[in-house]
Amino acid sequence: MEQQNIMAAGMLHRMIREFTDNELAPLDMQIDAQGDYPDGLFDKVVNNGLLAITLPKDYGGAAFDYETAAKALHIMAIGNASMAVTLEGHFKTLEQILKYGDQRLKDAYLPSATHRIFAFSQTESSGGSNPKGISTRATRQGDDWIITGDKIMITNGGLAQVYCVLAKTDDDQMGVFLVDQDMPGFSFGKREDFIGLRGTPVGEIVMDHIKVPSYHLLGKVGQGLEIGNNAHDDARILMGAVLTGIMEHELQIAVDYSKQRKALDTPLYELQSIQEKIAEIAIARQNTELLYQHGAQLKLAHQSYAQVAAMTKSYGSRAAVRSGDMALQVLAGYGYSREYPIEHLIRDARAMEIAEGTVERMNGEITLKQINR
Ligand SMILES: Cc1cc2nc3c(=O)[nH]c(=O)nc-3n(C[C@H](O)[C@H](O)[C@H](O)COP(=O)(O)OP(=O)(O)OC[C@H]3O[C@@H](n4cnc5c(N)ncnc54)[C@H](O)[C@@H]3O)c2cc1C
Repeated sequence: MEQQNIMAAGMLHRMIREFTDNELAPLDMQIDAQGDYPDGLFDKVVNNGLLAITLPKDYGGAAFDYETAAKALHIMAIGNASMAVTLEGHFKTLEQILKYGDQRLKDAYLPSATHRIFAFSQTESSGGSNPKGISTRATRQGDDWIITGDKIMITNGGLAQVYCVLAKTDDDQMGVFLVDQDMPGFSFGKREDFIGLRGTPVGEIVMDHIKVPSYHLLGKVGQGLEIGNNAHDDARILMGAVLTGIMEHELQIAVDYSKQRKALDTPLYELQSIQEKIAEIAIARQNTELLYQHGAQLKLAHQSYAQVAAMTKSYGSRAAVRSGDMALQVLAGYGYSREYPIEHLIRDARAMEIAEGTVERMNGEITLKQINR
């Protein structure tokens, strides 16, 4: 990275740290209990320019690279993982429009990405791990496409205004189309009552014969699965960053508690059984950080990063759940109490064993790649 970029990245990360310490961390427990962002909090994210971190300057963004953006989410997730995942969903969607979008689509929509949230919608009741099972249809009508279908479990569903949607064309090929909540035929459905990442809205969108111009198709007909997979890869790197932040939070709580709590006259951290747990959390945190940084660097270098991205989220999500369990055991009774955030950090991390491809799917992809080396 050039000197100027390093300084700019340092300033961004300082700003994110301050925002997290002042605005997010104090509300972390409230967000979990309330199951939503308190009024006005998301406006502060927008007003501080956080939606535009990765957006190119041509569209009014700050144009930070992916590694810098991932580190920003890592820092944010130390204070609150829900908001970091909200930004992850937005950033990964912008990446697909930048990579596959027609220039007319970029000009029409990307300038609004500084204040409007974008989301990527693939899952349906008939197709989660298996996107070929989806029922959403895109039918050609003259120069337009007509989109009809129902997407569920969409990160930022209800909060986002712009959605990239995987659909089947009449000849059963896959395509990704951009729809806007202001278009006739668009409505929101059920919001999920998920056990973790309780601030991040995850919900349903319903599309009833939405008409979009031909340039709302990303890439070409037949490229839908490629774009969906690319979105997963981009998301998995950012989720690795979020998981690193969660583990840092777990580690802080375990370390602080081990210094102030005594077993007879000995501080907990002097006990070998406690040291083992703290060391394991620290190692897992470090490994996940190295993995997400490596994935982001490969992406920046235009090298293949799908495998490392899958490893990042597969390893990181399981490590963060396990680290949470070890931190809980360091605090024992207090760890098991809702008074401390550890139990909700475990629930937050657990979501990432499922979202953006289940661990089982990713381990399948990793294994195939190893078999075919
Ligand atoms: C917090 C959260 C956020 C989400 N955000 C989004 C979003 O923004 N956009 C979106 O489109 N979706 C989103 N999802 C949905 C998510 O992508 C799906 O839940 C996920 O792909 C799994 O699909 P499924 O729930 O239908 O489970 P299924 O596909 O039915 O899987 C059930 C079980 O079978 C296993 N399984 C299925 N197929 C295979 C296989 N081929 N190999 C090995 N094991 C397999 C799975 O690992 C799992 O254990 C989100 C989910 C969560 C929890």
